[in-house]
Amino acid sequence: MKICRSIKDCRVAVADLRRQDRSIGFVPTMGALHDGHLSLVRLAQANATSSVVSIFVNPTQFGDAADLDLYPRDEDRDLALLHKAGVDIVFLPDADTIYPPGDETIVETTRLANMLHGKVRPGHFRGVTSVVNRLFNIAQPDVAVFGEKDYQQLMVIRQMVHDLHMPVGIIGGPTRREADGLAMSSRNQRLSPADRLAAVVLNRSLDLAEARACSTGATVDDIRNVIIDTIAAEPRAKLCGLDTVTADGLNSLHGVIIEPLAIMISVQFSDILLIDQRVIQP
Ligand code: AMP
Repeated sequence: MKICRSIKDCRVAVADLRRQDRSIGFVPTMGALHDGHLSLVRLAQANATSSVVSIFVNPTQFGDAADLDLYPRDEDRDLALLHKAGVDIVFLPDADTIYPPGDETIVETTRLANMLHGKVRPGHFRGVTSVVNRLFNIAQPDVAVFGEKDYQQLMVIRQMVHDLHMPVGIIGGPTRREADGLAMSSRNQRLSPADRLAAVVLNRSLDLAEARACSTGATVDDIRNVIIDTIAAEPRAKLCGLDTVTADGLNSLHGVIIEPLAIMISVQFSDILLIDQRVIQP
């Protein structure tokens, strides 16, 4: 496994793989790796003949400097996990490498980035597309894998790749969960023990919403009410975002559910914001 910290080293390592006729499957991450990330690595490896993983806590996607400082980091553990997973290249740039002094270019999907979760976290998706664009230009992948858990992010990336004619196939990976159903997230380790137990309410509310959606004549409002009531019944949880939109274009939906519906929720426990999502087929 090659560990590259500079763009030049990463390009040389990628060129070596290309010379061996290997295709590149890429997984961008912010580190503090868990089984969710590793499942994306396996997907990349199944869809390409080599794998590249980046670890970069991207400052431009954090609105809050304290959140950026508190983001968990454990490079040695991450590298050991990626080595065990058979990854070919790990790219570990620092912020000045990705955004050299004087850097001024942003990439933004103007509609998708500024709706739904993008309103809760202004500038977040612009930071994501700006960094993923730079990482794609460095790793030059054939395919890149993103988690469905960050559903709006996956849609934003697909839109960027489509609009900018980028020759990269985007693959969505299913959400990996803890035994009690909580979606794996690097943020989970910052929850207090009581909040960690309470956090199971995200998945529970989505399960109940899905069950409701299966009943005849269920409307989008029925689904929303199930989520609102379930989260409200957990005193430690505060529902910050609830979006019920079309699964492809993220457009608003009303009335009886007749097309695939994406439910995206963000729920706060103390100062930690957790997100989860479910796509429901009518
Ligand atoms: P992050 O390190 O949080 O930026 O996440 C890196 C990638 O892993 C993103 O594409 C996420 O959507 C994905 N991811 C995060 N949590 C999970 C999970 N529980 N299951 C599958 N993919 C995930």
